Amino acid sequence: MEILGAAANWSAPFKTKGIKKFTSCFFQTDAKFQIDAGNKWDKRKIDYLLITHLHQDHIGRIKTYPKTITYCLPSKSFLKIVPKGAKFIFLKKKTKIGQTKIEPFLVHHSTTSITLGYKITYRKISFIWLPDYFTPFDFSLFKNTDYYFLGASCFRKNILHHGYLTGQKSITNFLKDLKKRKLFPKRGIVYLIHLGLSMFPRDIKIKKLQSEFPNYKLEAVSDGQKIVLK
Ligand SMILES: [Zn+2]
Repeated sequence: MEILGAAANWSAPFKTKGIKKFTSCFFQTDAKFQIDAGNKWDKRKIDYLLITHLHQDHIGRIKTYPKTITYCLPSKSFLKIVPKGAKFIFLKKKTKIGQTKIEPFLVHHSTTSITLGYKITYRKISFIWLPDYFTPFDFSLFKNTDYYFLGASCFRKNILHHGYLTGQKSITNFLKDLKKRKLFPKRGIVYLIHLGLSMFPRDIKIKKLQSEFPNYKLEAVSDGQKIVLK
């Protein structure tokens, strides 16, 4: 399975409410998928677009995407982002598209938008894609997963929004949560995506984090970086 990675794109930041990053991820199985549309469409053929939530850094460039895509939505509240005349399906629970298994899971993050993470499985290889979260409703899909892709918007301190369990948990605290639950990706690697300002200088911060979590092999992902999962 091939993934075209998404981190923050610092060359052309999407700036809103202090957010200077946006995210999308392209992956190819027996079909062509993209998760989120924070970056503008790069003219690549996409069959299905999955959305994690309705924050600007995840859907801000959705108008640049063609109507030939099938939009996969968790609820009616997401219909407003679908262009007129485009195909859409509701994808609320485990769904198979061709040979690709897609398992959305709910996470606490926003007071205004349903927020999802995804577990994707294709030919026995699986990964978790979770860019924004305070915490998942439950961690069961993290078990028996080969790779984790986790948002690292903040390094040490959680970012709290208004309301209970909303905002972004820091990557340090989230790795602690995973470790406490004895959840490790089967292939060892945790890819860090959607990096926030407090994750820079990147190499120094990741080295620090790595020394605190020797059981996880941490790797930061850059925009456009090709990752082959096997
Ligand atoms: Zn968000």
